[in-house]
Amino acid sequence: MPDWRDYLDKAATYHGHICGGQILGIRMALLGLRLLSLDPQAELRDLVVYLESDRCVADAVYVVTGVTIGRRRVKLFNYGKTAMSLLDLKSGQAYRISVVDQDRPPKNADLVAYWLAKKDEDIFRVQKVALTIGPGEEPGPPTRAVACQNCGEMVLDHRDVTKNGQTLCRACADGPYYQFLIDVKI
Ligand SMILES: [Zn+2]
Ligand SMILES: [Zn+2]
Repeated sequence: MPDWRDYLDKAATYHGHICGGQILGIRMALLGLRLLSLDPQAELRDLVVYLESDRCVADAVYVVTGVTIGRRRVKLFNYGKTAMSLLDLKSGQAYRISVVDQDRPPKNADLVAYWLAKKDEDIFRVQKVALTIGPGEEPGPPTRAVACQNCGEMVLDHRDVTKNGQTLCRACADGPYYQFLIDVKI
């Protein structure tokens, strides 16, 4: 099993700096893989990571596991928590790891030395959890693709909704996250 410090160079390159989030994220990902008996150096095709934050730790997970949102192996539930669950689709096992240690290094501390002095059990809470991947959430080709009856745009992965008997995208059904201004000719 590699040491978390083995990933610091890669994390610095990918994330842009070494921070507590990189160190915690690397350690959480390695701990999760160890609990699942998965080799971080293997191609982790059956790993799905549920992130509870889109901050620094998210990049560290990629650095260790290689899982990406575009391959449907990262799900974001933004609870604003430094926590994540790792699911092995092959075995069906899942663990949730959260940071419970609320102490943080003093300003200008040597981050690596600070975190090296702490054991995983000093920092993390680990829970064995049951996780079922929902319809349209699984890696692989889409199992549903329909056109929105209002805007005509295609909606994949069961993200469509039925409202007043119409099949609609969420933007048309609930209002979009953006404010439409004008169509642009290109
Ligand atoms: Zn950072
Ligand atoms: Zn629509």
